[in-house]
Amino acid sequence: MAKPNAKGPTKTVQIYCVKCKTQLYKYRKGGKGALVKCFKERIVDDFTNEEGQCPNCNSIFARPAMIRGAPALKIVGGKVTMK
Ligand SMILES: [Zn+2]
Repeated sequence: MAKPNAKGPTKTVQIYCVKCKTQLYKYRKGGKGALVKCFKERIVDDFTNEEGQCPNCNSIFARPAMIRGAPALKIVGGKVTMK
């Protein structure tokens, strides 16, 4: 197990495809509120085969983006659910 980054968030959330309920990521999410972006360095477990695409139903749930100089995924609204 990798050590959690002291500066980063330590709370993890499970991210699922809203359509077929397949788990997509385990993610260290900072702050409160809706998930609008995922920094790639904070993804703990990646269950996808193609970036931003559900491995089960092939729904596109996110698009690659650079956010403040860091590679990230922008979540398409309403495509994922989080626990
Ligand atoms: Zn799906």
